[in-house]
Formats: sequence, C-alpha cells, structure tokens
Amino acid sequence: MRRPPEAFGLIARLLNQIFPSRCPSCEGATDSIRYAPLCRGCWGSISRYAGPSCTVCGVPFTSTDARICSACILHPPPFSKTLSYGLYESSLADAIHAFKFKGIRRLHRPLGDLLLSLYPGGADALVPVPLSIEGLRQRGFNQSLLLAHHVSKKTGVALEMDGLVKVRDTHPQIGLSAKERAANLRGAFRAARDFRGERVVLVDDVMTTGATAAACARQLLKAGAADVVVLTLARAGSP
Ligand SMILES: [Zn+2]
Ligand SMILES: [Zn+2]
Repeated sequence: MRRPPEAFGLIARLLNQIFPSRCPSCEGATDSIRYAPLCRGCWGSISRYAGPSCTVCGVPFTSTDARICSACILHPPPFSKTLSYGLYESSLADAIHAFKFKGIRRLHRPLGDLLLSLYPGGADALVPVPLSIEGLRQRGFNQSLLLAHHVSKKTGVALEMDGLVKVRDTHPQIGLSAKERAANLRGAFRAARDFRGERVVLVDDVMTTGATAAACARQLLKAGAADVVVLTLARAGSP
C-alpha cells in the first residue's frame, strides 16, 4: 500500500522528535534510539580512561609514578576512592550534556551501564548527589538520581534517593578558588538518615574539583557511614 505524502511527513516529524536529526559529536545522522542524539559510531568511541590518575580523587596524571595527588596528600578528602568512567571530553561529554541539559532522560540507561561497569561491589547504599528544590525545579529531574536508580536496579543495592538533601541553593562553582568553593558549599547538604556502619557509594554525573563530592561525603561520614566511594561518569581535568 502506498502512503500519501502527508503521512510520510507526519512519520518523519514523529521520527525527528524521537531522533533529533544530527549527532552532536560528528554532525552525522542519528541512527540509534538507544543512544540518540548520539550516533552509534560516536557512542562506540566512548572509552574508559586507562591512563594514570589519583587513586583517591581520580584526577588524571601525566606521570605514572605518583598514586595520590598532592592535593589529596595535603588535604585528604572525606571519601576513600573515586571511580570515573572517562574524561569529560568528546562523545562522553556530548552524551552527558544531552542527558543533563537537553533533558534526554532515556540516556540514563546507556550512561548508567557505564557506571555499572565501574561498580566495585560490597556497597550497602547508593546515594545520589542531590539537587536543591530550586535546582530540581529548573532541570525537572535529578540526573544523578536517574543514574543511581539504574545501578540500583541492576545490582540490587539499596537506592537511598533522599539519603542526602541539598538544603539550600549554591552559586555555580566555576571560577571559585578551593577556599571559596568550600565556603559556597558549607551547610548546603545534610544527611537525612543514619548511615551508621554503612559502605556508601555516592553517585554523580561529573566530578570537576571534587568539592561537591567532598561536601556530600562529609555529611555521610557525620551520619555514621563507614566509607564513601564516589562513582561518576566523567572526571574533568586534563592529564
Ligand atoms: Zn556521531
Ligand atoms: Zn587526588
């Protein structure tokens, strides 16, 4: 049966809503529902960072001699380890951007699978980095919660979706010194329950300076957590 041309127009428009037409990484046509708007090729180019990095905060190194960065030696962070899938660049950054800022929520599945491949096992609770009520109102969803939910579903580890709350809005951290970042986040997060003796995995999409993860981990330790490991998709900062 031949469809009239207007039906084709409708189907094309519908398809275009599902598949934004161009891949943000290569500008080529989008060819996958699972990874859209990224094309299969660009998604396939996302690779796990294999270079040297700080075992505590995950910052990438150029040297292969050091294991812990000077910042972590001078001021040990409250978390014990950071596991990041890749560097915040290329197609991984494009995918996170589409997920977080373009509201393409279904990307939490393939992105969540990347986190799943890092999950070290043995955790008692998965806690997403929370947004403030104002942040949630602006974005409409918490990207870290969707990622943590995916990992929880696949591993069976309890998701503590309100384990941490962000009690006040904070300024963007960009351009602030380490001291200013800490001051900006002081009192911003609060643990909503007792975590006594629990091994907690804190889930976030991107780790930039580690100040947010540190502020969250500090509250979890204060609530009795035995250990906090940070799990993120990408680590900003170049080797
Ligand atoms: Zn592409
Ligand atoms: Zn470090």
